[in-house]
Amino acid sequence: MATGQMGAIEVARRGLMLVISSPSGAGKSTIARTLLEKDRNIGISVSVTTRERRQSEIEGVHYHFVSKREFERLRDSDSLLEWAEVHGNFYGTPREPVERAMSDGRDMLFDVDWQGAQQMQDKMGADIVSIFILPPTMAELQSRLHRRAEDTEEVIQTRLANSRAEIAHWREYDYVIINDDLNNAFDAVQSIVKAERLRRDRRHGLFDFVNDLVK
Ligand code: ADP
Ligand code: 5GP
Repeated sequence: MATGQMGAIEVARRGLMLVISSPSGAGKSTIARTLLEKDRNIGISVSVTTRERRQSEIEGVHYHFVSKREFERLRDSDSLLEWAEVHGNFYGTPREPVERAMSDGRDMLFDVDWQGAQQMQDKMGADIVSIFILPPTMAELQSRLHRRAEDTEEVIQTRLANSRAEIAHWREYDYVIINDDLNNAFDAVQSIVKAERLRRDRRHGLFDFVNDLVK
């Protein structure tokens, strides 16, 4: 069960659904990975995708890599909480692990594009906390896509061409972080998570706590 505060007194609360989006290469996967390593109270939603696996990626860890046919089967059987076509591939969030995490009151992280963020906001409302990551400059975005060295030049060019359309959605997010220095950006994400866990309306255990307190 999630709790809202470190220390001896723990108060039950609803799980948090942290949605992180950015143009490709701005650093959201790096930030998400660091958060997962440092914060044992958060899990990640592993998406299904029809995209080709990158060399560094592991099936079931970074994505479930599926054929277009399998993706359509999942989509059409309502097994995906949301889905979208991004940079010419299909991506979707499996529904079942999310429902399990929410009913157990566990926090979950979602690395989805703006279309996914909109669908999640519509479906899960107040449980969603959304963060948009911006690069410091477009030149740096381009150089990060090259430095990552995992996509072909053609794929990099498609992603760069699509980045302005993704950035256009920045106002739809609760928080916006400019990822210039990675440590600063990560500190900002950690602060957001810490504060959001303390929100009164998530902490239903406060009712019992306060009742006992004043009894
Ligand atoms: P995204 O998931 O948004 O596509 P990644 O997390 O894969 O982006 O980051 C793209 C590349 O940029 C990676 O090589 C990563 O190590 C690097 N990177 C991320 N944040 C920073 C930063 N603040 N400064 C320099 N390089 C960064
Ligand atoms: P990449 O191919 O770089 O891993 O991801 C490309 C884009 O797809 C990123 O913007 C990423 O956030 C998005 N994405 C990854 N998984 C999902 C998903 O399940 N749903 C949606 N809507 N977008 C996703």
